[in-house]
Formats: sequence, structure tokens, C-alpha cells
Amino acid sequence: MTASTDARALLAELTGDAACTGTWSAPGRANLIGEHTDYNDGFALPFAIDRRTVAAVRVRDDARIRVASTAAPAPVEVAIDDLDGLFALPPAERGLPEWAGYPLGVAWALRRTAATARIGVEIALASDVPVGSGLSSSAAIEGAVAFALNDVWRADLTPVQLARVGRLAENEAVGAPTGIMDQMASFCGQQDAAILLDCRTLDVRPIDLGFAAAGLEVLVIDTRVEHSHADGGYADRRAACERGAATLGVPALRDLTSDDLPRAAELLDETTFRRVRHVVTENQRVLDTVARLAADGARAIGDLLTASHASLRDDFEVSCPELDTAVDAALAAGALGARMTGGGFGGCAIALVDADRASQVADAAVQAFAASGFAPPRVFTVHPSAGARSDRSPAIDSVEA
Ligand code: ADP
Ligand code: MG
Repeated sequence: MTASTDARALLAELTGDAACTGTWSAPGRANLIGEHTDYNDGFALPFAIDRRTVAAVRVRDDARIRVASTAAPAPVEVAIDDLDGLFALPPAERGLPEWAGYPLGVAWALRRTAATARIGVEIALASDVPVGSGLSSSAAIEGAVAFALNDVWRADLTPVQLARVGRLAENEAVGAPTGIMDQMASFCGQQDAAILLDCRTLDVRPIDLGFAAAGLEVLVIDTRVEHSHADGGYADRRAACERGAATLGVPALRDLTSDDLPRAAELLDETTFRRVRHVVTENQRVLDTVARLAADGARAIGDLLTASHASLRDDFEVSCPELDTAVDAALAAGALGARMTGGGFGGCAIALVDADRASQVADAAVQAFAASGFAPPRVFTVHPSAGARSDRSPAIDSVEA
């Protein structure tokens, strides 16, 4: 795996020799269905993908932490004891490049969450997850670092606890008000399966997808339109959901069903109503997808994916022309279903396709982008894969706290 080789090479460049305590990695994720439901205590059905971020780690004999990435120009170093003070400052006063908020934020969040050994570390990161495309390179970097520090610092947290650490880092250290779906998918994913995530209880249930057995593949169409969670759109949608729940007198939109929609239509302004309707119907589509997978198999879920896209486009209004073009072109070329995945405003669409039609669907997307005057998309397949893990080296057992 090249990200692993690259991470080790970066570590060697950083430290001057090839010694490495161990490597840890975490995947990006694609969300099969269940979008903008996580922060509404709802359901999502994401899967970890076969693209990963790798952390090559070496302990150092002072209590400092240095992070470097092949995707960033310069390493950043801080004393472990300074992490609390650093993240207590407003972001603009920290003197940190934005990317460093992810790995250092995880270190800070881990120390806030658990008793940890105070061991200095060098962390070199490399990734083959596209950054900023909606495949959650952010959860992947958090997972690689969280699983590494969990072992090196002997924090002894479970993957679900580490997912909370990742979210704490992303929310408080980076300042992106995201839910926990990305971390749960990346940290708890399983080969050939999606995870049914109950975002209220954080219960996870692996759901067999059986795509390969059904002759299906998932095609990712990366529009290359950069999204940013820090921008207003995401926060605005969250606020609308909170407003809707408060007006309807429920703790979260998860507590509504389609039976509540007529009342919602009476009480809410038209825009807030459509935001609420997306979340309510999307939760149901997740549960329907799980039921259909079990009853009828993977070929039966396509129209649910496509209905999810329509709801995100028309009711939640988080799609964009490039995502709509990708979805429409994929469906016209024979995809069983297609939808935007991730937060929206750009990023990626996924299409469920017959494996032997994948290249035709990919070509159709490229042609449709050209015809619309959009920059060419990046198109590739992803496979449901294992979640974060350690490739622990024996050297770690001799590290003294
Ligand atoms: P996504 O999670 O969809 O890829 P986000 O905006 O949530 O997009 O996260 C992308 C940000 O995460 C990048 O701008 C960068 O700050 C950080 N990041 C992700 N992967 C890496 C990496 N390998 N090296 C450095 N920073 C990274
Ligand atoms: Mg992200």
C-alpha cells in the first residue's frame, strides 16, 4: 500500500533514520444512505472504503508531539503539556495551520477523555483518501492518529470511544460542527459490510451488502468541487433542524415519523418544513434499505438511493449542479441508483452499478460534465472495507511510560 510506504518515508525524512514504532491506519468512508441524519440522532448506513490514511509513528524521549503530512508543507510541533492551553485559545490565535488541528486536536481530545501516558511522538501521515471530497479524509486522519495514540499512550479506549474523541477534535479543535457518522464508519467499518448506525445510542450493526456476489460495484464520481464544513451551509442546515425539533417539541428530528409531517407543515415555515421532511423521510429510507437488503438483496435498493438524492436536492438543498449532473448521467447510463454522498455542496456522488457497466457509467459521467462545461470528474470504484486498525510493531511493547 503506497500510503504506508509514503508515511514511513516521511517519518524517516523527519527523524533522519528508518526506525518506526509502528503504523496505524484508518479508511475514508462512503455513506450508502442516511445523509444529514447523524446530528438529528437518526440513522445512517455508511461503509469504510479501501482508501486509507496511514500514521507512521515513532516515540521520542521528550514529551513533545510533532505531526507531519505528505499533504501539508511543514511539520508542526508542540509540547504535550501545552495542548490544553493551545486549544483553549480562539483558532486564529493558535498559530496552527488548519490541517494540524486534526492530529493535534485528536491528541488533545484523547487526553481530555482518558488517562494517557505522557510519551513524546513523531507522527508522519500519508493518505490515498481524496482530501475535501466528502469521503471523509478528516475521519481517516483522526482515526489513524487516535488509534496510534490510543496504543502508544495506553489510553485503552474502544473504537466507539475513539470515535467520540475524533468528533470532539473535529468539533472543538478544528471547529467543524459535524456529527459522528464519519468517525463511526471509519473506526468501526467491516469488510464487505456497511454499518447501520443509530446516532442516538451509537449502536452499530454490521449489515452485509453482498455487492460483489450480486455483480454490483459502487462507483464514486468525485465532482472535484470543494466543499467546506466551516462554511455557512452546513451550520445553517443544523440550525434549521434544531429549530424544527424545538418547534415540534421533540429532543431531535429522530423522534418524528412521516405521520408528524402534516403537523410540521402547519407549524413551520416552508423552508424549515422541507429541511425537516428530508430528515424524517431519510431516516425511514435507511431502515427501508436495511430491510430490502435482507429481504431482496442489493439489487433492490437502487430507487431508495435515488430518492435520497432527490430529497437532498429539493428539500434539504445541499446538492449542486455538478452532483446533480453526476447522478442524472449515472442513472441515464444504467446505474441502479445514485446519490450525492457526504455533506454536499460539492464532493462526491456514488452510483450502484452492474460491474460490467461500470466503465460505461463512468464514461457517461465524464461526457456529461464536459457537455455542461464542468471540469472533468474523478471516477473510481470503492469497496466496503475494514475499519481503523493497528499494524502494531513489537517495538511498542518496550516503550516506557
Ligand atoms: P473530507 O473529510 O470530506 O475529506 P473535510 O473538510 O472534512 O473533508 O476534511 C478535509 C481536511 O482534513 C483537509 O482540509 C485537511 O485540513 C485535513 N486532512 C485530511 N487528510 C489529511 C492529510 N492526509 N494530511 C493533512 N491534512 C489532512
Ligand atoms: Mg470530513
